Amino acid sequence: MTIHNFSAGPSILPKEVLNKAAEAVIDFDQTGLSILEMSHRTAPFERVMDQAESLVRELLSVPSDYAVLFLHGGASLQFTMLVQNLLPVNGKAAYINTGVWSKKAIREAKLYGEVEVIASSEDRDFSYIPKDFEIPSEASFLHFTSNNTIYGTQFKSFPKATVPLVVDMSSDIFSRKIDVSQFDMIYAGAQKNMGPAGVALVIVKKDVLGRTSRTIPSMLSYQTHIENGSMFNTPPCFSIYVSMLNLQWLKDFGGVEAIQKRNETKAALLYSEIDANPLFKGTCVYEDRSVMTPTFVMKDKSKEAAFLQFGTERGLSGIKGHRSVGGFRASMYNAMPIESVEALVQAMRDFQENL
Ligand code: PMP
Repeated sequence: MTIHNFSAGPSILPKEVLNKAAEAVIDFDQTGLSILEMSHRTAPFERVMDQAESLVRELLSVPSDYAVLFLHGGASLQFTMLVQNLLPVNGKAAYINTGVWSKKAIREAKLYGEVEVIASSEDRDFSYIPKDFEIPSEASFLHFTSNNTIYGTQFKSFPKATVPLVVDMSSDIFSRKIDVSQFDMIYAGAQKNMGPAGVALVIVKKDVLGRTSRTIPSMLSYQTHIENGSMFNTPPCFSIYVSMLNLQWLKDFGGVEAIQKRNETKAALLYSEIDANPLFKGTCVYEDRSVMTPTFVMKDKSKEAAFLQFGTERGLSGIKGHRSVGGFRASMYNAMPIESVEALVQAMRDFQENL
């Protein structure tokens, strides 16, 4: 049976990437060494780092005054690291609260200074993206989450900020064209569209650094990692290697614009079934629906367990909603082929017809 992997993350990777990664675990690039047992201070691994960085730069057209870093600690470490590096002592930061991940980011920022939550969609269970807000001119930065993995909402256009803009793009980076120069910092855990878990990507404009007058521990300072090419300590070598393979796959696919088209086709396919099928309904405001991570519920909640079972028997894996919200979510990251979305849509139709 074909398994259709809708996992929210770590999530689907292309088969060819997995095959190459598997080969490299045994013999990396005909070196006779496994990628797992090779020093990061060797020419072959330095080439991996260089390739990974140049693929990020090429795929997202990263301007040259931005650093590209591969760091440990996932996106969650960035919640605190970004504050220490960008928020001056006695400074103030503005945040938009669009769900669990925004809240976690806000909690960490509050440890270091004043935080103003300038907009929130908590009043309606995070089912929409707030659009009316004023950004305090004295804020050192505005932080938001571009795609809300748990709630299925996504910023379709980004805030026009008069202050530096910082974005958590963990669950939609590389899924659509963006203009990096709109942002002062972008970060993402790798384990959705970039690669496997274990590495976080940080893209930061170099001239926003060094202004906080804080004492920042070496490992938490972007400057340390910039000066050391993300090799201040042993980097997460394998995660970076597989990310590099995956970014190469994306480039060969035609890049971000080509994948964006396919992602939009996949989303249209699923949302039209959610809207047409009398058993199901979407959970978010129409215009804010995520292209990457659609969420939906059954109008009759008592049927959800049966549909989950029905889907599992057809190879639909990982469609159960996050434990905090229930229902379903179909994470349709870059590597997911259209056929998997068609299989989900067919299951929804068949379930309804068989009732
Ligand atoms: N931000 C967003 C938007 C996420 O979806 C996640 C993980 N699902 C995180 C942050 C946390 O990432 P990590 O587990 O890499 O710390």
